[in-house]
Parts: sequence; structure tokens; C-alpha cells
Amino acid sequence: MNCRGRLAPTPTGFLHVGHAYTFGIAAERAAGELVFRVDDLDSTRCTDEYIAAAIDDLQWLGLAWAEGPDCGGGAGPYFQSQRTGLYLEAWQHLAAAKIIYPSPHSRRDVEDAALAPHAPVGEEPLFPKNLRPDDWTIPANPGCTPWRFRVPDGQTIEFIDENVGLVKRIAGVDFGDFVVWRRDNLAAYELAVVVDDHHMGIGEVVRGKDLLTSTARQILLYEALGWKPPRFFHTNLVVGPDSKRLAKRTSGLMIRELRRKGFSPSTVLSGSVEGTFLK
Ligand code: GLU
Repeated sequence: MNCRGRLAPTPTGFLHVGHAYTFGIAAERAAGELVFRVDDLDSTRCTDEYIAAAIDDLQWLGLAWAEGPDCGGGAGPYFQSQRTGLYLEAWQHLAAAKIIYPSPHSRRDVEDAALAPHAPVGEEPLFPKNLRPDDWTIPANPGCTPWRFRVPDGQTIEFIDENVGLVKRIAGVDFGDFVVWRRDNLAAYELAVVVDDHHMGIGEVVRGKDLLTSTARQILLYEALGWKPPRFFHTNLVVGPDSKRLAKRTSGLMIRELRRKGFSPSTVLSGSVEGTFLK
């Protein structure tokens, strides 16, 4: 069984106890085969300081990853910002099949569209179907226009999550057409992680439960690209004493702050510090 896993922090802030909990489980379940990938596509918010801090924090936790297996695009560690060629290949495939379409509409247009149904709690508004174009020509490059995946309305996407069990989402109801290419001419999160997880030969993706609906979107991308999805393990979320999700900036619960206060790596990895608990 392929058990290669990955640690994929997004360095837009310091990592907190929730990241430690998820990454600890990812490391444990990967049985030694662990790839380190920096999800640094958002160049305006990802900084070298946060990347260095993430590496330092993960090392302090005792998590070790493989340096160097060739996972598409040369040996690791990997930076999404250096893997644009792979994302473009996937874009070309999807555009040629007309599974994705150019969608210049702003978030505001979407929110304003009279027909936009209400989005499920915590999710972005459903993209209104009347804003789908009837036809379009396929350019050689995505350019500076967002591209969206046309979801198969009414189709139920089901998967067995290794932690949560059976998960079901209905396309067009629980989520709408989603962005795969951004206005700033970069791959969007959903496309970039699918391309990377596939090329990296990831056997199991471990991430927080807040991404269950994203996984349904990503399963559609795997199907459209003709790839087999990995297994998924969505971890429980570490929440604060107020039962709310931790934000990256919850400073007292940052790994570096907990280190300073004298917590041990194993306590931080357990997710239970200073009133936090798993939900
Ligand atoms: N870099 C993403 C994050 O930190 C990874 C999510 C995922 O595992 O797909 O949220």
C-alpha cells in the first residue's frame, strides 16, 4: 500500500497548535515516507520569514520529511511557486475538454446575482449558473482571467474518509462552479494541490475537517484529469476555549509561543494546550 504522505503548510503566518496536530497525524500515518511542500502560491502573503519559521517549528516537533525524491519537477523540498508548468499542463487538459471556462466575474458580481442561492454555512456563495458562458474559444494560456470548473449539477460525490467515514456532497447544491485559475494568472488552491498530490504520488492526504467540501471538488478534478484520487484522512479541528477555529494569528497558540512557554513537543502535537480541544 502506498503510504507516502505530505506536509503542506501555507506560509502566510506562523503555524499554530492546530497545524501541529494535523501534521503530527500526517507524519504518523505516512509511515516514514513524507514529502515537504510549501504551498506558497500567494506570493503577496507568503514570506521567507514564515517559511523559515514553519521549518523550524516542524523540526522542533520532531517531524522529519524526505529530502529529495523526484515528485515531478525535480527533487524536494517543493515550492508550489516553482511548479507552474505542471499546473499549466493540467489547465490545458481541462480547457481543451471544456470542463473549465473563463469567468471574468468578480466576487461582487456573484454575490449580487439575483439568482445566487444561499451558500452553505462557512462556504463561498454558490456561483450562479446564469453566469456560465454559452461558448468560448480556448486560448493558448489562461491569462489574467479566472477559470472555473463546471460542476455536474446534482451529482453526488461520495468518499470514505479514513477518520470521518462516509462523506457525501452534491455538486451544484453544496458547492458550485469553483475557481481553478486565478485572476493573477496563478493556479488556484484546488487545482494546485490535486496536481501536486498526484505527481508526488501521495497515497493519503491528511488535512483538517474544514476541507471536506474541498475534497469533493478535488475528486471531480481527479476524475476530469483521469487520475486516481488518494485516500483522505480529515483530522478533527483544534478549537479554542470558545469552540471557534483557531486563526493563524491567534498568537498565544502559535507553536513558537508555546515553545517559549515551555510546552513539550508531545503536548503541542496532542492539540490540547491552554484550553484548546478537538472537535
Ligand atoms: N496548504 C494548504 C493549507 O495549509 C494545504 C491544505 C491541504 O492539505 O490540501 O491549508
